[in-house]
Amino acid sequence: MSLTLGIDLGTTNSALAIYEDGEPKILENKNGNRVTPSVVSFKDGEIIVGEPAKNQLAINPNTFASIKRHMGEPNYTVQVNETKYSPEEISSEILKYLKEVAEQHTGETINKAIITVPAYFNDDQRTATKKAGELAGLKVERVLNEPTAAAIAFGANKKTRSGSVNILVYDLGGGTFDVSILQLEEGIYEVLATDGDNKLGGDDFDLLIVKWINAQIKSEFNIDLTSDKRVQIRLKEEAEKAKKSLSAQTKCEITIPFLSINPSTNIPINFESTLTRETFNDLIQDLVQRTEEPVKKALELAKISLKDIDLIVMNGGSTRIPYVQDFVRKITHKPINFVVNPDEAVAIGAAILGESLSDMSGSDSNAIDLVDVTPMSLGIEIVNDGFSVLIPRNTPIPYTNSGIYHTTQDNQTMISSHIAQGESEKASENYVLGLLEIPGLPPLPAGQAQIEVTFILDANGILTVKGKNMENNNVVKVVINKEDRMGKFPSRAN
Ligand code: AMP
Repeated sequence: MSLTLGIDLGTTNSALAIYEDGEPKILENKNGNRVTPSVVSFKDGEIIVGEPAKNQLAINPNTFASIKRHMGEPNYTVQVNETKYSPEEISSEILKYLKEVAEQHTGETINKAIITVPAYFNDDQRTATKKAGELAGLKVERVLNEPTAAAIAFGANKKTRSGSVNILVYDLGGGTFDVSILQLEEGIYEVLATDGDNKLGGDDFDLLIVKWINAQIKSEFNIDLTSDKRVQIRLKEEAEKAKKSLSAQTKCEITIPFLSINPSTNIPINFESTLTRETFNDLIQDLVQRTEEPVKKALELAKISLKDIDLIVMNGGSTRIPYVQDFVRKITHKPINFVVNPDEAVAIGAAILGESLSDMSGSDSNAIDLVDVTPMSLGIEIVNDGFSVLIPRNTPIPYTNSGIYHTTQDNQTMISSHIAQGESEKASENYVLGLLEIPGLPPLPAGQAQIEVTFILDANGILTVKGKNMENNNVVKVVINKEDRMGKFPSRAN
């Protein structure tokens, strides 16, 4: 039977799981680690991935981290010598590496994967993720929402009684915070709502520790090293180590020898200090506090009150931090639950779903059905910068909907309208996915020539748009190529 990889393609780290001997299992990478830094480096004509690439960060400018932040961004590339690479090309190197790890482990060729994405990734970001998989030689069976994967990994279906169960997934990773409200009913997961902050995560905690160290250096040695890039990268590594150790201990000795040379004394600067958990908690409290608002917002969108939440699942490496755990207990007044390792849950969930999808009998108790929702409203631009929504935010997918639109000027023979995604009533304030152009309309008085627009959103959250000329029944299908995507709304002459 052919295996499906479960891949958590993370901003900071990625993880890989497969189903083996009847259970999902995280595979160690070539360096023996259970998570792989999402870092790609180009060196002497070779491409390296993971820890060795991360080690190049400080010394090799052709090294790329956190590329996920740019997935689906129109025209974004990184350059190595003469060659430009898109975020999906860089990501595909991480996926190729993980595919290789799994193939070495199993001795089989593997060409299927389930890749996870943050719940509120838009259509472009999902498409780019799928493309990255294809570039790595993988058929992407599903682009799965991370919180859904975490709930699957937690075995929410097995740990709860019958009836409908409401789950809140609090996911704090390296670069992003996501909160999702899921409903599980008879083995079917439905994402009711999602919210979050895509610029908040463990990396920010590291930077606060770096800031604290810089301040200590300033006061002890009267020297400012903040503009020394190499020093700052070293400090960030040490900061992350200190942060992790503070999840297990209440204080941590930070020792960083030979950070720099003091120019006035010519004596090397050796940094040594103790960071207590208490000080660390003080440093991060404002950032952690920022997660409360999205939690409230998601509950509101899901129209569920906190008292009706049956399970709180913690996900993401940063939920190992005791202060974060206490905070979630405090704001929810509920016990919290973990998958054994919160930074492995998503890949495990993806592998479980992969197994369930390939088990075509469907009778197995592992069978999982998924109903995801679209995280943003989808619609088209109408007259006076209006935005006509065809698929509202939080609609369960797959979903198809049509609307009839008409000309606004006499003798207008073509309707040209932007397809966009977002919550503003003004089309121009939303994110543009593409342009729908229906030519060949009959020259009639304004309002009389009609078109029918159909939005087809598939189970991966990927959109196809069809426009039908009602006069001759000709259908225009919009293939939203990456190059066509503008992101920002273009200004219009009329
Ligand atoms: P993820 O994106 O889920 O892989 O989470 C990565 C983030 O979790 C990074 O910022 C890590 O530094 C952080 N992290 C991993 N392990 C720990 C730990 N034991 N304590 C605190 N943060 C951790």
